Amino acid sequence: MTDHTAPIGPIENRPTALRTHLCGVLRGSDEGAKVRVCGWVGRRREHGEHLAFIDLRDHTGVIQCVIDTKVDVRSEWVIAIEGTVRRRPEGTVNPGLDTGEVEVGDCTVVVLNEAEPPPFSVDDRDESDEQVRLRYRYIDLRRPRMQRNLRLRARVNAAIRAAMDRQGFCEVETPLLWAPTPEGSREFSVPSRLHHGSFYALPQSPQLAKQLLMVGGFDRYYQIARCLRDEDLRADRQFEFSQLDMEVSFATQDDVMAYVSEAVLDAAEAATGERPPPITHMTWADALDRFGTDKPDLRFGMELVDLAAEFEKTEVRAFSGSHLKALCVPGGAALTRSRLDALGEQAKRAGAAGLAWFRVTAAEGASATLALDSPLDRFLSDTERVALLEKTGAKEGDLILAVSDTHRIACTTLGTLRAALGSPPVGQGPHCYVWVVDFPMFDGVDAGGNPQPAHHPFTMPYEDDLPLLDTVPFAVRSQAYDLVLNGWELGSGSVRIHRRDIQSRIFDTLGISTEEAEKRFGFLLSAFRYGAPPHAGFAFGIDRLAAVLAGEENIREVIAYPKTQSGADLLTGAPGALPASALAELGIRTVPSPGTAST
Ligand code: ASP
Repeated sequence: MTDHTAPIGPIENRPTALRTHLCGVLRGSDEGAKVRVCGWVGRRREHGEHLAFIDLRDHTGVIQCVIDTKVDVRSEWVIAIEGTVRRRPEGTVNPGLDTGEVEVGDCTVVVLNEAEPPPFSVDDRDESDEQVRLRYRYIDLRRPRMQRNLRLRARVNAAIRAAMDRQGFCEVETPLLWAPTPEGSREFSVPSRLHHGSFYALPQSPQLAKQLLMVGGFDRYYQIARCLRDEDLRADRQFEFSQLDMEVSFATQDDVMAYVSEAVLDAAEAATGERPPPITHMTWADALDRFGTDKPDLRFGMELVDLAAEFEKTEVRAFSGSHLKALCVPGGAALTRSRLDALGEQAKRAGAAGLAWFRVTAAEGASATLALDSPLDRFLSDTERVALLEKTGAKEGDLILAVSDTHRIACTTLGTLRAALGSPPVGQGPHCYVWVVDFPMFDGVDAGGNPQPAHHPFTMPYEDDLPLLDTVPFAVRSQAYDLVLNGWELGSGSVRIHRRDIQSRIFDTLGISTEEAEKRFGFLLSAFRYGAPPHAGFAFGIDRLAAVLAGEENIREVIAYPKTQSGADLLTGAPGALPASALAELGIRTVPSPGTAST
C-alpha cells in the first residue's frame, strides 16, 4: 500500500534570512547546533505551567521544541524558534519520526503571526469532510499528504519536461482563447467584449494548434497543456486538467509510443524511485476479448474466456446470443444471492440481456470432483459443464459468470463485472502500463446514421484497410493508440491524416460535407494545402498519472484547487453571478434557468 506520508526524494536544507534550518532536516549529527526554525504550531503538550512541548511544522516535517518559559502560542500560529539541538533523553526517542532522535531546547519563541483556531486539525489525517477541506484548501494543503501529493506531481512534471527536452522536443505554448476543436467534448465558451455575440472556445486540447506547428516546421513539439472540457465530473475527471501534449513529424506510431514511454517511465521513476519495466503492447481487439475493455487493469487475472464453440448447439435458452463469454471469480461462490442479483442488474445496465452464474462446489458422486450450483445447471449437457469448468479454470469455491450476447456486449459486460469484482484499490499492487493499439476507426453512429470517429476525424486509418471504408467502415482499423495504467486511460493519440484525398474520404464516411468541414476546421485544411509533413502525436493526463503514482483514488487529491462533483469551487465560490454592468459590457442578457421561479 502507498505510504501517503513518505517524503518525495531526499530533503535538502534551504536556509533563508529568517531561518537556519528546515524543521524536517535536523538529526543526531546536528547535536549542539544553534538553530532558528520557522513554521506552524502543530501538536502542543503542556507539562505544568512553565514547560511545553511544541511540534513545529513546515513542509519538510516536524521538530519537537521544548519551551521552558511561559509563552502563549496556539495551534497554527506562525512562529520562529531559536534554540540548540540536543538529543532526546533516553526512552523519549520517537523512531516513527525522521527528527525523532533530537529536539530543540533553550528556546526563544518569536510569534510571526497569530491564527484563528483552524476548522480541522492539520496533523491528523482524520477524513474531515471534503467540503470543509476544499473550503479551507490553504489549510488542507499544509497537511503532509497534500504536500506529498503536489510535490510528487511537481517531480512528475519536471521528469516529463526533462525527458521531452532530452528527446529533442521544443516546448511551445498555445492559446487558451481559441476556436472550437473537433474532439467531441462539450466546450467552455468565453464571450468576447469587443465583438458582442461572438465567443472564444477554451481548448479541449491543443490538437489543431499542435498539428499546425508541424506544418510550421517545428518537427517535435510538446507542452504541459491546460485542457478544458465541460463534462460531468467524476473521480478521474475535472473541468480543467493538464496533459503532456506532444506531436512529431516524419514519425510513425512506434516512434510516438517510444518517446512517450520514455517520459512516462522517467516520471514514474522520479515519483516512486523505481523504474517500471518496458511498456507492453496489446491490440484493442485482444483487450476487448480478454479483459472486456479498452482500459485493461493488468494487476489481476480473471480473464474472459470464449465458450461460443462449446455451446454452439446448447439447449440453454439464455445462451442463444451469438457469443458466450465467461470469467471465473476466485472465491466468488461465497457471494450472497442478493449480491448476485445486484451483479445481474449491473450486467443489464451494461447492455446485456442477463447474467448467468454458477457456484463451483464439490461434487457428491465419486466420478466428478466439481459440481455447479446454478438455476441453469440442469439444462447443461455434461460436455458443456466440463467446458465451463475447464476453460475458466474454476476451482471449488469459485464463481463462474457468463454472458451470451453479441461479442461486443458479452465482452464489455463481463469487463465491467471483472473490474467491479477484481480491481484492487489504486494504491495497491504494481503499476501495470500497457499500450492499446489498432483501435477501430469508427465507434457508433450519430443521429443521422453516420459512423462516428473513435478518436477524432484527423486520425489516419491503416492504409491496408482503406478499401473497407466504402464497404464495412466499422472494420477499418485506425493508427490510434491509448496508454492505460491499472485500468485508467492515461491518454490517447494517433497518426494524423496529412493527405487531402484521404481526409475527404473520411469526412465523406462521417457525413461531413465539404462546406461543413470548411466552416469547422477550414483553417487546418487550408494549412494542409501548404506542405503538411506526415505527423503523429499523443497526449496523456498528468492528473491521472500523478493520482495513481500517489496512490490516490480521486484526482482531486493531486490538484491544488479542484472543483467539486457539481463543478463548484468552494474556496472562491465560483461560478458566480456577474454584475449587470459587466454583463452589459459583454452584450449578454441572462435568462432564468428552467425551474427557477420568476420574481
Ligand atoms: N488531443 C488528443 C486528446 O486530448 C490527443 C492526441 O490525439 O494527441 O485526447
